Amino acid sequence: MLDKVVIANRGEIALRILRACRELGIATVAAHSEADRDLKHVRLADESVCIGPAASAQSYLNVPAIISAAEVCDAVAIHPGYGFLSENADFAERVESSGFRFIGPRPDTIRLMGDKITAIESMKKAGVPTVPGSDGPLDEDTERTRRLAREIGYPVIIKAAGGGGGRGMRVVHSEATLLDAITLTRSEAGAAFGNDTVYMEKFLEKPRHVEFQVLADEHGNAIHLAERDCSMQRRHQKVVEEAPAPGISDEVRSRLGERCAEACRQIGYRGAGTFEFLFENGEFYFIEMNTRVQVEHPVTEMITGVDIVKEQLLIAGGYSLSYKQEDIQVRGHAIECRINAEDPENFMPSPGDITAFHVPGGPGVRVDTHIYDGYRVPPYYDSMIGKIITHGENRDVAIARMHGALSEMVISGIKTNIPLQANNMADGNFAAGGVNIHYLEKKLGL
Ligand code: ADP
Repeated sequence: MLDKVVIANRGEIALRILRACRELGIATVAAHSEADRDLKHVRLADESVCIGPAASAQSYLNVPAIISAAEVCDAVAIHPGYGFLSENADFAERVESSGFRFIGPRPDTIRLMGDKITAIESMKKAGVPTVPGSDGPLDEDTERTRRLAREIGYPVIIKAAGGGGGRGMRVVHSEATLLDAITLTRSEAGAAFGNDTVYMEKFLEKPRHVEFQVLADEHGNAIHLAERDCSMQRRHQKVVEEAPAPGISDEVRSRLGERCAEACRQIGYRGAGTFEFLFENGEFYFIEMNTRVQVEHPVTEMITGVDIVKEQLLIAGGYSLSYKQEDIQVRGHAIECRINAEDPENFMPSPGDITAFHVPGGPGVRVDTHIYDGYRVPPYYDSMIGKIITHGENRDVAIARMHGALSEMVISGIKTNIPLQANNMADGNFAAGGVNIHYLEKKLGL
């Protein structure tokens, strides 16, 4: 078992990791910025080390500072959480070459999945369905490119192999603008990601976002934990997530889930991961793999009973998976609402002092948050301050519980998106299930 772990993240996920460590008897080191001395997990951790000033570039992205925190505290592993350095293969490599365990996949796996073209190639080999497209980079042969786009059928989307965070993509509706769009995406990608390789895919017009959670150990075992639907998005940011995805049959779930698990076995995947798909007209299309724990992991935990963060720690400690595929059963339905410190009207961040805080409760209600009465939300980081997760025997019960939880929750002193989330829970189309990824923005008039 790992005996001491550095938590190289902040906010709710840092607290989530700390809780899992405590349960397993693992000592914790909170690596935090100067602005984060008052974070709940920093106060609860066995040790804490300040790794730099407030700006993420000098703290949560400061590789030498994080590695020296592990050295100074004599830790054995580093958990990167999500965001920040969690999908940075160079960081993972530095961690492992310095003699620590990176709690995540091997560095070369992160690199393989970080390049969308090599990721898609590996998925195809494992029989995971992908979006019809160029099957590799676009080259200088403009005639071939035009022909390819005609075969795929317009609209098409030009994507940067090294892209991320919703950037490095351009939709093309007709041949007239195809070549210019490629040139533009190429030069933007070169500047933003240091890699000007681009490829082409069919642009799906009204897809849903459905993703599969997987776990894999170093001994060749891999399982899937069913899927989540994260179609309620604004600016490519997920707002509401749920598990399982409405309308997916058990048979489809096991078939595609098994393909994802098989892909893990083929690439020698280690740890927790997510296969993201666009889902349209009953078909799944792989778009990318996230090689880390995700914000929305709790909905999967609620319906399967598996503690994903504990499994990450056990896998990193060299253990075999605690579950076999046949142990995994989907029970009921779970919904997650992200709570952001932001103005619900114009989405401007709303940092500041929390003057009162009341947490909702009752059956099937879980709140993952680092905030507390008197906590000051700093202006330097992402505006998400927590998540409410509700679970019930079916989707209607989960939604009703979320309604109740949102109305019970009190966060005074700052603005939050609770009113917006209450509105989402009252939405008839959301209640019916299966809205597409453009639904929320359309509804908000964006
Ligand atoms: P990133 O790594 O930047 O998140 P993704 O490949 O995951 O990039 O794509 C981000 C989003 O862009 C998707 O969630 C979807 O909304 C949109 N998108 C990507 N590829 C397509 C496609 N082929 N058709 C339609 N929308 C797409």
